[in-house]
Amino acid sequence: MNDGRALALKYLEQQRVLGGDQVILTPSPDALGLRPGLANPPTDTVSLTPGASPGRTDTLPPPGLSFDPPSGDLFAADPVQHAGTLDAVAALVAECTKCKLCEARQHTVPGEGPAHARLVVVGEGPGRTEDETGRPFVGKAGELLTKILGAIDFPREQVFICNVVKCRPPENRLPQYDEIAACVPYLFRQIELLKPAVILAMGGTAAQTLLNTKQSLGALRNLVHRFRGIPVIVTYHPAALLRNPNWKRPTWDDVRIARRILDS
Ligand code: URA
Ligand code: SF4
Repeated sequence: MNDGRALALKYLEQQRVLGGDQVILTPSPDALGLRPGLANPPTDTVSLTPGASPGRTDTLPPPGLSFDPPSGDLFAADPVQHAGTLDAVAALVAECTKCKLCEARQHTVPGEGPAHARLVVVGEGPGRTEDETGRPFVGKAGELLTKILGAIDFPREQVFICNVVKCRPPENRLPQYDEIAACVPYLFRQIELLKPAVILAMGGTAAQTLLNTKQSLGALRNLVHRFRGIPVIVTYHPAALLRNPNWKRPTWDDVRIARRILDS
């Protein structure tokens, strides 16, 4: 397939996944053989290809918060700190009864993805389908997440996908503070083992936990935060996008920031 056609298809796929009326392409519309006006990029579009057609959004947002929790002391008694692989973390999660979310779970959902993943996506906690299968983001929100990742050329299989809490909160309520506090050592250890280039925090729970803040999602978006030095980009949760399609466009902006950091 020639470049123009490939880009046009990419554009159509982006529109299908994330909606909106913006064209996000590398070359000019002429290069695609599209009629002017049909694909007329607004001035704030940005290329998907690093280095091409710099635009306003090519620069990264300013720095935000930085959270640097101490990493595990090797002599600490907590076995989580000694887990040497992601599988070892998952095995500890599978037996965990540190909070009341263990009571109603069918499966723990530790997260999944390659150990060398450069991008880590952090959600809130398992929903019904995740609890039934033991896999993260496999319900409706998960389908949308897969499409969002695909739209920035990140096949889901290349991304490590996990949650703040590893067991399903009843009726999908928000995880409570004590549950998050009990569970977060698993997430922090996973990140320590993965050493990703970027973390994408989806939704308020993930963002507030990773950045140790109570600030709202709106206040945390569009900044490059750091968790132990790793860039953290904050965006809407895919489940929120299903409820409010108006947030798809800003989400698209956010994931492109993550993409640019990965490409830099
Ligand atoms: N929502 C989440 O936050 N995580 C999942 O795994 C699924 C839905
Ligand atoms: Fe353990 Fe986390 Fe499950 Fe609570 S949610 S039981 S801390 S794995």
